[in-house]
Amino acid sequence: MLYRNYGKTNESVSILGFGCMRLPVLDGNPVKIDEKKALPMLRYAIDAGVNYVDTAYPYHGTGMESGGASEPFVAKALKDGYRARVKLATKLPSWLIKTRSDMDAYLNRQLERLETDHIDFYLVHSLNQDYWPVLKAAGIHEFLDQALSDGRIRYAGFSFHDQLGLFKEIVDDYDWSFCQIQYNYLDENYQAGREGLRYAAEKGLGLAIMEPLRGGHLANLPPAIQTVMEQNAIQRTPVEWALRWVWNHPEVSVALSGMGAMEQVVENVRIAQTATASSFTAPETAVIDRVKQLFKEKTRVPCTACGYCMPCPVGINIPACFALYNDDWMHEGPPATRKSRYQNLTATSALASQCAACGQCESHCPQSLPIREELKQVAALFE
Ligand code: SF4
Ligand code: SF4
Repeated sequence: MLYRNYGKTNESVSILGFGCMRLPVLDGNPVKIDEKKALPMLRYAIDAGVNYVDTAYPYHGTGMESGGASEPFVAKALKDGYRARVKLATKLPSWLIKTRSDMDAYLNRQLERLETDHIDFYLVHSLNQDYWPVLKAAGIHEFLDQALSDGRIRYAGFSFHDQLGLFKEIVDDYDWSFCQIQYNYLDENYQAGREGLRYAAEKGLGLAIMEPLRGGHLANLPPAIQTVMEQNAIQRTPVEWALRWVWNHPEVSVALSGMGAMEQVVENVRIAQTATASSFTAPETAVIDRVKQLFKEKTRVPCTACGYCMPCPVGINIPACFALYNDDWMHEGPPATRKSRYQNLTATSALASQCAACGQCESHCPQSLPIREELKQVAALFE
């Protein structure tokens, strides 16, 4: 296992972190973690040298409002001496915070749920233009100072889902030790992106990367793109290409992978043993560039799923419609599959054809997408 310095924390972290948000579950129920499978997976990773375990208040829950099953599971899995062998990361549920006392209440509750007296890496979760002003007004700076000084947390950081400008503003707004951003070869210029990565690193922050496989998308490539990788002289799985691309960045300290099966843990641990920074050769870079180009050609609607267009007053799930549309186009699935996936989506949201053409969504879209026109195409394909 390779290790890197984690910014201002000066801690040495394994380049592979264990993300506890997509653990195996029973009966498809997110709250029922299959402990017989999940516990050996986490302990295998730790035995192999992983020393970064990441969870959050809502992971493996039924929504964002209440605590999920992930934190209590982590507490259980880290018994028998495992807690002392890892650095534990969890996150303040930003969207639930209204007052300064809310912050203490959630942190104290999380310490109980995790059965520990301190959190090593405590992140303010999923910062964006809505949550950040509320947190600032409620006293987030003073809260973090207090939690650091009384030892409930060792280091303060934040995770982020918004535009680059806000990212830089937040980096400069507090003496953070680290931050966590979405980054993978398709999202090089999305949200904080490469520029944000470099900006934070120059300011001394450690960088944790989430979605290195874009929610598993980069592990399961469309056939035409998979072929490009298979025909290459360097034989690697799509997962290995994607993870190595992330770890090739010297600014990256740790990549968090949400592993759902033991085979994935074994493969990721194997890759993390040799994935050094700044090691990509020109032919390796060319493979990724070609794959990115193919993705670009095959993406019909360049929606980034930022969600700014939501909510739609008639109830259309706009980003989900576009994700299905793009995904279907890329994977060239049979027509029956197209329809059933769309039907599942529209069982709980309005049909694309129900768009009232009010234009509200387009005025908020940072990609300036002609959403009304594109929804007509979605309707034509799926309905
Ligand atoms: S234009 Fe259509 S999709 Fe956009 S907000 Fe209005 S009804 Fe919803
Ligand atoms: S349509 Fe535009 S605003 Fe809506 S999720 Fe996609 S990129 Fe964001």
